[in-house]
Amino acid sequence: MNLNTITTVKRPATANEVGEWEAGNAWLAGGTSLFSEPQPTTNTLIDLEQLGWPALQVSSDGLEIAATCRIMDIYRLKSSTEWAAGPLLRECCDALLASFKIWNAATVGGNLCLSLPAGAMISMVTALEGTLTLWARDSTPRMDSALDFVTGNHRNVLQAGELLRSIHLPATALAKRYALRRASLVKLGRSAALLIGTRGNDGDLLLTITASTPRPIQLAFGGIPTADELRRAIASAIPDDGYFDDVNGLPDYRRHLTYYFAEQIRVELAQSGSKA
Ligand SMILES: Cc1cc2nc3c(=O)[nH]c(=O)nc-3n(C[C@H](O)[C@H](O)[C@H](O)COP(=O)(O)OP(=O)(O)OC[C@H]3O[C@@H](n4cnc5c(N)ncnc54)[C@H](O)[C@@H]3O)c2cc1C
Repeated sequence: MNLNTITTVKRPATANEVGEWEAGNAWLAGGTSLFSEPQPTTNTLIDLEQLGWPALQVSSDGLEIAATCRIMDIYRLKSSTEWAAGPLLRECCDALLASFKIWNAATVGGNLCLSLPAGAMISMVTALEGTLTLWARDSTPRMDSALDFVTGNHRNVLQAGELLRSIHLPATALAKRYALRRASLVKLGRSAALLIGTRGNDGDLLLTITASTPRPIQLAFGGIPTADELRRAIASAIPDDGYFDDVNGLPDYRRHLTYYFAEQIRVELAQSGSKA
């Protein structure tokens, strides 16, 4: 849609060119959210495209994803054979309610910064133990764990004008086996619950709960827990009134899915390669 409050669009070549942050500024990435509804408090868009950050960089350390990387680039990435969790990247792209137009424009950073419970890029980088690099307006970088970035529905740790620069996924996390479960009320709807379990060679189990809660919840186990231990861990991390409530699912439904999928993931990852 046309945004009739916008009077200026800036296309800086470097983030430093932006200078002091003013009320009414907004970073523009793919624009799929920004252009989907009126932005009455925004008068200036600062387009990130000209910054020219390389979308994806693979190294022995893992995967570096620029905030401006398109979801389509993640989908098309030919992952290393050493990454048992490589297919998870594509499965998370599939978990977004999106037409090909959205996929081609939407960025990983935009998905994180929008901070919706159903943000599947949030699920992906949290489950894969990502670390985020954030740039303050005075150019001081700071690191944050993906798990701590989103603090609630449409809420995150970004300060005014702070820019999400990149996400690092460590090779150790990409090498883990994984299991994903997801449900939405309608076939191509936003996720009501999206759970991902990963398991390393040391037998640990990391369970990441997203979409059913306003922000990601992660449970770490030294081995495969019993079904009862798993249920108790979820209950102590998420109170009964801690489930998200919107048109994509009632809290009771999301709570049910969370326990149901968590148990399926527990059983699946306990199977081959288990030390439990
Ligand atoms: C039909 C449709 C379906 C959708 N389905 C889903 C869905 O299932 N799940 C979901 O989570 N979202 C969904 N969305 C919302 C949105 O399209 C996606 O979240 C998308 O990934 C946003 O990325 P973008 O690059 O287009 O962000 P933009 O629209 O450009 O920006 C989104 C917000 O993030 C800020 N921002 C962007 N990049 C940065 C950065 N690097 N640093 C700091 N701030 C930044 C912007 O200022 C803005 O506030 C959907 C949208 C549409 C129109």
